[in-house]
Amino acid sequence: MTAQPDKIDVLVVGAGPVGLLCALLGRLYGLNVLIVDKSSGPITVGRADALNARSQQLLEIVGAHAELHPRGKVVNTSSVWADGEFVSRQSAWWEALEGCFHKHFLMLGQADVEALLDRKVAELGSPVRRDTAVVAVETVDGGCRSTLSTGEVVESRFVIGADGSRSLVRTAFGIPFGITRPEIVWAVLDAVVDTDFPKVPEIIVFQAETSDVAWIPRERDIDRFYIRMDVKEFTQDEVLAKINRAMHPHQLTVRKVEWFSQFSVKESVAERFSLDDKVFLAGDAAHIHSVNGGQGLNTGLADAFNLMWKIGMVAGSGLPTEILRTYEQERKPVALNVVQASGALVRATKYSESGTHAVDYVKIVERRAGYITGMGIRYGDEGPVGSRFFDFRVRNHDEQESRIYSVLDYQYFTLLVFGDELPDLDLPPFVRVIHVGDAPGKGDYWSQDCPYSNQVLLVRPDSYIAAWSSLADTAPVAEHLHALTAAREAAR
Ligand SMILES: Cc1cc2nc3c(=O)[nH]c(=O)nc-3n(C[C@H](O)[C@H](O)[C@H](O)COP(=O)(O)OP(=O)(O)OC[C@H]3O[C@@H](n4cnc5c(N)ncnc54)[C@H](O)[C@@H]3O)c2cc1C
Repeated sequence: MTAQPDKIDVLVVGAGPVGLLCALLGRLYGLNVLIVDKSSGPITVGRADALNARSQQLLEIVGAHAELHPRGKVVNTSSVWADGEFVSRQSAWWEALEGCFHKHFLMLGQADVEALLDRKVAELGSPVRRDTAVVAVETVDGGCRSTLSTGEVVESRFVIGADGSRSLVRTAFGIPFGITRPEIVWAVLDAVVDTDFPKVPEIIVFQAETSDVAWIPRERDIDRFYIRMDVKEFTQDEVLAKINRAMHPHQLTVRKVEWFSQFSVKESVAERFSLDDKVFLAGDAAHIHSVNGGQGLNTGLADAFNLMWKIGMVAGSGLPTEILRTYEQERKPVALNVVQASGALVRATKYSESGTHAVDYVKIVERRAGYITGMGIRYGDEGPVGSRFFDFRVRNHDEQESRIYSVLDYQYFTLLVFGDELPDLDLPPFVRVIHVGDAPGKGDYWSQDCPYSNQVLLVRPDSYIAAWSSLADTAPVAEHLHALTAAREAAR
């Protein structure tokens, strides 16, 4: 058995999309990250099929969106069909979104997301160690000690369990994960199809007897179908028969199958998302639920954004470890809500008092849109603090147009000053200032669309508002900055 000579900052267990993003964000903070996965490479087909609006916004901050966007399909409508007839089409919850420029799902397979993140992590000098499992993990003084399947022992300050629904990390620490099984089984088919159905790129929920078929547009020439089978043994022909029954009198045949699988709905949220400020669970290791609403991958990516700046600030900028506890405080309630939303959706496909499953389904989507788009998630009560920072257009001194999200930097808090004067505030080194004026030549950027005139905002690296004040009275922001500086001094 050989021990690693030096302790690293973070061991990421699992290189699914969530682990890959954790590793990438950790590297952006300059942390020494080791990411391992028992598989020999990223997945190449199947699984998650959509990035919601918030995921797209956050991926933009770390330069991972521009490459993904052209590969996917933009979708912001859902329609209901019943017995071969068009019933309704809706997109109100996307159109109503404020402060964002991606008012849609980007339909794109998980394989594309993993391939991009895998490459970026390698480019930043921490390629995934493949064919390597973590077989044991424990906490020790000052950090964690993990054993790999190669026999190596890795000493790290932090361990992130991004190791999926059967998480070894969660099990190793005995974190309860009681699973509800509503006995609902989906067949999932990604295929190139031929059909006389009037196909448009939108999510379609079909009502036949119940609502057991959904059609999801995907990238390239493939389409995805979710077919509720309610049994575990079924054939592709049986699945096709159900699709054809749902869209009757239209017909559909399959030219090429890319992926054919099944998904048994299980629902759970881990009792703890963190342990001793050293061990963290993220993604499916922390929460699992039905695929309805497309929230699994998206919730996991948001976990990574929430967690990694806190780890980065503790390891790199000397913030106290207490800040790490806000990860569980903020993300566990989100996970519980996601389980509720997807649970209501999946049950609506099977049960409806009025026999209008498909219509009921879309109404639930509308009610739960804040979670499905990702844009309604906030930390804490009413008011600007804890809400997501709105995106808007800005111009620089050369009159080049961009958006404020494209100039945010995940490595820093950003103090955004909207108005003529820069207030005199004491700034810790991990805070950058962006001055946004209201006319050409004023500030670092200027904007006429800005919703924050004459305000001062302290925005976290994950672009949630940490503190807010008017420009005339900056005391609340000054106090927050002072508290951050004092906490950092005390932790030294
Ligand atoms: C059919 C289907 C459809 C889905 N559709 C959607 C959708 O539309 N939208 C959506 O948002 N989500 C969807 N999901 C869910 C989505 O795929 C998951 O939420 C997502 O993969 C979770 O990512 P993760 O990184 O947390 O875990 P995973 O992707 O499960 O990755 C975990 C990784 O950890 C590795 N690992 C496990 N144990 C160890 C160990 N001991 N040592 C080292 N490595 C280990 C595994 O090899 C794996 O690579 C779908 C899932 C399925 C199955």
